[in-house]
Amino acid sequence: MSVRPEIAYRYLMSVLFGPSGRPPEWRRHAACRGMDPALFADENRIAAAKTVCRSCPVQQPCRADQLEWESRLDARRRYAVGVVGGLAAHERRHRPNVERKVS
Ligand code: SF4
Repeated sequence: MSVRPEIAYRYLMSVLFGPSGRPPEWRRHAACRGMDPALFADENRIAAAKTVCRSCPVQQPCRADQLEWESRLDARRRYAVGVVGGLAAHERRHRPNVERKVS
């Protein structure tokens, strides 16, 4: 059985961005917007990625959303990659679970 593309897309957006399926408003102000995402995924450039995050006006909601998203599934946390919200993957892995948002 195949899944219609629009259903698969909606499901993916829901997984990524929650029940609304839309990127949160704060992403419009992200310091990394338009930058090469490879910088944030490169284990050899963690310090450079963190420098960008330190100057980011939306670091707090970015970090909170990422920690909440990763806390929903053990596998997401276990296989976390890159720098998000100013935290490297190994730092996010060892943070306590955050409460899931109720929306
Ligand atoms: S905190 Fe870092 S990863 Fe998050 S939006 Fe800002 S620059 Fe991007």
